[in-house]
Amino acid sequence: MNVVLFGPPGAGKGTQAKELIKKYNIPHISTGDILRANVRDGTELGKEAKGYMDRGELVPDSVLIGLIRNRLNEDDCEDGYLLDGYPRTIPQADALDGILREIGKPLDVVINIDVSDDKLVERLSGRRTCPNCGESYHVVFNSPEKQGICNVCGSQLYQRDDDREEVIRQRLTVYNQKTKPLIDYYDKAGILVNIDGSNNVDKVFQAVSGVMDKYK
Ligand code: AMP
Repeated sequence: MNVVLFGPPGAGKGTQAKELIKKYNIPHISTGDILRANVRDGTELGKEAKGYMDRGELVPDSVLIGLIRNRLNEDDCEDGYLLDGYPRTIPQADALDGILREIGKPLDVVINIDVSDDKLVERLSGRRTCPNCGESYHVVFNSPEKQGICNVCGSQLYQRDDDREEVIRQRLTVYNQKTKPLIDYYDKAGILVNIDGSNNVDKVFQAVSGVMDKYK
């Protein structure tokens, strides 16, 4: 099953993906997670990406296209993949199309999780993330059992630099300008499905699973 989980920052793609990969047994490929791991490890890629990420801008297409090409060629993608955070521009989508044709794993479906801007700001500004296992929480809607501590691995939670309000606004502007046009792109390709992402996590999971079940 070859799936793109699409939507603005804060739509809940990462949260949904964590559960979906357990159910469908395919790898979760989050370009944001891959880039953050590189920043944390101080790699060349991480050094190049950090400034863009901290400002809420997109890392250049050439960097992302190389990264995704390598990742999709790994063995664990044999039976499918769940892409999250890629593609984010038309050139990235065109490149993806070419890569998937080369490796013979075309997209089955693009699931767009739709959420209003106000709700996104509320979600992102309250988000707290575990630097170790990537689990995410919300100060009001999904607080950890022990304040500031990850339920899963016990690490101290932090606020991502790009989850500060001024950077959130910039990320949403970038989303609206560069990424949102992909909704039309995939709609024209006949593989887009829209999901209402304003509901709670369980309801959104049911809706997304309902779509993915068709491609099992
Ligand atoms: P995310 O965790 O998906 O919200 O991504 C965090 C940040 O990583 C984004 O704001 C971008 O700076 C960068 N990033 C992740 N995926 C991409 C992509 N496909 N294209 C360009 N930049 C990306």
